[in-house]
Amino acid sequence: MCRKFILITILCSVVIHCFADKYPRNYSIDIIHYSFELKLSDSTDEIKGKASVSILFKTNDIKQIRLDLINRTEKRSGKGMVVESVTYNNRSIEFIHQNDELLIKPGESLEKNKTYTFVIQYKGIPADGLRIGPTKYGDRSFFCENWPNRARHWLPTIDHPYDKATSEFIVTAPFKYKVVSNGLLLEESQINKDYKLTHWKQSVPVSCWLFVLGVAEFAVQNVGHFDGKEIQTWVYPKDRQAGFYDFASPTKEVLKFYTDYVGPFVYEKLANIQTPSVNGGMETSSAIFYGEDLINGKADTRLKNIVIHEIAHQWFGNAVTETTWDDAWLSEGFATYFTLLFQEHEYGHGEYIDGLKKARKTVFDFYKKDSAYSIIDDRSAENGQVTSSITYQKGAWVLHMLRERIGHENFKKGIRNYYNKFINANATTNDFIEEMEKVSNEKLKTFFKQWLNKPGYLKLNVHWTFDETNKQLIFRLNQTQQQDVIFEAPIEFYVYEESSKTPQTVKFELNTRTAEFKIPFSRKPVLILADPRTALLADINLSENL
Ligand SMILES: [Zn+2]
Repeated sequence: MCRKFILITILCSVVIHCFADKYPRNYSIDIIHYSFELKLSDSTDEIKGKASVSILFKTNDIKQIRLDLINRTEKRSGKGMVVESVTYNNRSIEFIHQNDELLIKPGESLEKNKTYTFVIQYKGIPADGLRIGPTKYGDRSFFCENWPNRARHWLPTIDHPYDKATSEFIVTAPFKYKVVSNGLLLEESQINKDYKLTHWKQSVPVSCWLFVLGVAEFAVQNVGHFDGKEIQTWVYPKDRQAGFYDFASPTKEVLKFYTDYVGPFVYEKLANIQTPSVNGGMETSSAIFYGEDLINGKADTRLKNIVIHEIAHQWFGNAVTETTWDDAWLSEGFATYFTLLFQEHEYGHGEYIDGLKKARKTVFDFYKKDSAYSIIDDRSAENGQVTSSITYQKGAWVLHMLRERIGHENFKKGIRNYYNKFINANATTNDFIEEMEKVSNEKLKTFFKQWLNKPGYLKLNVHWTFDETNKQLIFRLNQTQQQDVIFEAPIEFYVYEESSKTPQTVKFELNTRTAEFKIPFSRKPVLILADPRTALLADINLSENL
C-alpha cells in the first residue's frame, strides 16, 4: 500500500505492549476457498450476500467456527450486516452473530482432514470496507477498501493476514456497470433487461484484505501480455485517454524485472484500476487500485513509482505474506526497497541513491516526532495503526544495508530462496533471517535486531586529526543517539590526499559508543567524505579537530 500516514504518537513501551495482536487465530481450521455472490443495486446501498466458505478441518470435534462479520447496530446508524441463515448441506445450522463475530456451530461431529462448505446468507449497508458512492465525476460506484482489517464490514472472513484462501466473486449489478475483481473472468452475462452477472475467480490463495471488487462504468483496455497473462487498464470512461496513456508503461517491464530477480509472478492477470476508495495505491492481488486523482494523462513519476511499488507487492505481501501485522515490513519495507531496485535497474544507480537519500530524510524527520518507534513491535489492526513511514522507509534501508553487508549476489540468492520457500504462504521475520544467514554463512541476528526491533538510527560525531609527527590519521567516533542502543555497523570514509587523486577507502567496524582508529597516512588529507556510498542509515557529523 502507498498512502499518507496519520502518525500516532505511542507514549511508552508499556502502552505498546497493550497493542499486542490478540486476534483469535484458530489453527484447527484452514479456509480453502470463499465464494461470494453479491447483489448490488442503484436503488439502495444495501447489499445482499451469499458467502460459501469451504473450510478444511484439521482436528476432530470442532464445535464452533469463528468468522469476522460486522453487525448492524444503532451505533453504526443502522449500517452493518445481518445474517439471515447459515446452512450446511442445505440444512440450517445454528449460529450466533454478535460483537462483530459470526460463530457457526456445525452441530454434528465433522471429521478432520476433510473440507466442508458452509453457506451464509446476509445483507446490509456496509459501514466501511465497501465504499458505495460517487467517483470524482459524480458517478455511482462500488469499490472495496479492505486494508488492513475492513473486509469484515461486508465479507464474512478470517480477517487477518495469517489465513490465505482462493476466492470468487459472482456479482449481480445494474447492466451499465463493469465489474472487476481478482483472478480470471469466467462469465459476463445479461441475466435480465436491467442486470448483469459477472463472475471472477482467483485460484491462487491470498489473505482476505487482498480481495478486490470494483463496480463502476469503466473503459477497459488490454495492454498486452506478460508470460501469457493479460495486462489490463480499467479507468473511468471520462479518463479513458488519460488513463490508457498513464498505464501504458512500465507494468510489463516491472513484471519482468521482479520475475527475473525474485521468482514467478503467481497471479492470473494484472489489472491497473482507477478508484475513489484509496489515495495512493492498494496492492490487491492481480487487480491493483490507484487513487482517481493520480490519473492525469501525464504519466508522471509519482504514479509510475506507485505502479512499481504495488506490483512489487504482488511478490512481497501478496505471494509471501507476513504472518502477523508485527511483521508488516515484510510487505511494505520490501515493496519500498524493490521499487528502488527496479529504479536502479531501469533508470540507473543515481536514481537508487536519490531514493535512499529521500527515504533516509523521512526516517530522520519521523524520529524527531516519535523517537520510540521500531519497525517490529506488538501491533494489531484492531487496536491501532499497523504501519508508519518507518515500516516503509527504514524497512527499505534495512534491506539496502543487508545487501551491502552480505553482497549483491548472496542477497539475490537469499531473496529467491525466501520467496520460493514461502510462496503463496505466510512468513515471519525470523524465516527471512534464517534464509539470509544460510546464503551468507553469517550470523545476522544482531544486525536485524538493532535495526528492526530497536528504535532510531545511528547518530555519529566524527572528529579527525592528522598527527604530523607519527604520520597518522586519527578518527574519534562517538555515537550520540538518545536511544538505548549502540549500533554495530561498518562505516566507510573516502580520504583524499589530493583532490585530483583517487581517494583511499577507509573502513571501520563500530561496536562501542566511542571509538578511536588510527591509520598510517603520509600527509594531511585535503578532503574526507563520510559514508560516500550512502551505505549506512546514519546522521554523520564530520569535522576536523583543530
Ligand atoms: Zn505498499
